[in-house]
Amino acid sequence: MKIVAAQLFALRIPFVEAFAHSVRSRTYSDSIVVRLEAEDGTVGYGEGVARPYVTGETVSSCLSFMQAVLWPAVQQIDYARPAGGLTDGINWLDEIVESLPQAWPDGPKNDSVIAWNAAVAGWELALVDCLLKSAGKSLGEVLPPQRPTVTYSGVITASDVTQAVKMAKRFKQLGISHVKVKVTGEGDRERVAAIRDVVGPAVSLRLDGNGAYTVDSAIATCQVLSDLAIDSAEQMLPRDPLAALAAVQAAAPISQMADESLITFADAKALIAANACGWFNLRISKCGGLAQTIRLARLAQTYGIRVQLGCQVGETAILSAAGRHLAAWLPNVEFVEGSYGKLLLSQDISRQPIHFGYGGKAPVLTRPGLGMAVQDDLLATYAHKAVSLEAIAC
Ligand SMILES: [Mg+2]
Repeated sequence: MKIVAAQLFALRIPFVEAFAHSVRSRTYSDSIVVRLEAEDGTVGYGEGVARPYVTGETVSSCLSFMQAVLWPAVQQIDYARPAGGLTDGINWLDEIVESLPQAWPDGPKNDSVIAWNAAVAGWELALVDCLLKSAGKSLGEVLPPQRPTVTYSGVITASDVTQAVKMAKRFKQLGISHVKVKVTGEGDRERVAAIRDVVGPAVSLRLDGNGAYTVDSAIATCQVLSDLAIDSAEQMLPRDPLAALAAVQAAAPISQMADESLITFADAKALIAANACGWFNLRISKCGGLAQTIRLARLAQTYGIRVQLGCQVGETAILSAAGRHLAAWLPNVEFVEGSYGKLLLSQDISRQPIHFGYGGKAPVLTRPGLGMAVQDDLLATYAHKAVSLEAIAC
C-alpha cells in the first residue's frame, strides 16, 4: 500500500485551565497532527508533540524534519497491511518504524535535538492508523488487551497549597486512585502533606520534579516526604549526568523514575547499567512511537525496572487512543497517564469523547485503526499552520 498524500497540522487548542510544572506553564495544546492518505483512499492520523526540553524538537524543526526527511522516505515504500498473530503484529510495527529515518541524511541539522522522536511517532501512528483501517482491523488485534479497562492517574500541577487541595478534592470526588503531584522545591512538604490528608491513605501518590532539584535537594526532599507513602519520584534532576541520578537513586528513600533522562534505547541501557532509577516513564511521542516504546518496555521488564506509561500534556485523542491500546496490552505497566481530553482541552478533535470517567477508568477501544474518528474541520479550525505534501512523481 503506497501513501499518496500527506498533510501536517500544527495545532493550537486552548486549555480549559493552565497546566504548570517546574519548567513551563502551558495554556494550549501544540500537537502536530499528521494526516496520511493511502492509494485506496484510506485516511490515517498520527500525532507528535515537540518539546524542546524533552527531545529537543520544536514545532518548527519537527515540521521541517517531517517534510524534508520523513515524507520522501515514506513515499518510496509499498507498506504491508498487518497480518494475524501477535508476533507478526509486533514485527509489522517494527517494519513501519524501520521505514522512517531517525536523522537528517547528511548529519545533524540541529545539534540540540536528542532524537526526532515526536516527528517519528507522528508518522508511525498515522501509518499504523491508515494501514489498519485499510485492512478493517483495530490496533487491539495487533496488541490484544490484557485488561478490559485502563486506569488513569490524576495530575496535580505546580500550584500553591490552596489550589493543590482543590485539585486533590476534585480527584477524590472523581474516585481517582492514582495521583501524581508536580513538585518544584518550594513548600513541597506542606503541599504534599495537605494532598495526602485530602485523598486519604489508600490513594497512590507519586512526585514529578521536572529536573528542578540538585542531588542534595532531591535526596533531602525525598527524605522529608518519605513518611507520606510516596511510590516514586520522577525526574527530580535535570537529564544529565547519569552519576548524579544514580547518587539520588542510591541515597533517597523513594525510588526514582527516569523521564527526561530516558529518550532513546541507548539512554535506557545506560540508566540500567548505572542503577540510576527504579522506574521508566515511557511516553509514545517522547519515545518515538509504539514500536520503540514497546522495545523500551520489554527492556525494562528484563531488568526489573517498573513502568509508567505517561503522556504529553495537551495531547489530543490520537495519542490518547494509541496510549489506551498500549496501556491495555503492556504486561508490566503500573501507572498510566493521559486521556484527559476535554478535562484539559477546550475541544478535542475526535468525534467521540476519549477521556476517562469515574475512578480514572476508560474502556479499551475496538474500532478500526487507532479507534477514534478525527474531525477534519476541527484540524482546520485549530491549525495555526497547515502544510499539504503531494507525492513526487518517480
Ligand atoms: Mg515527567
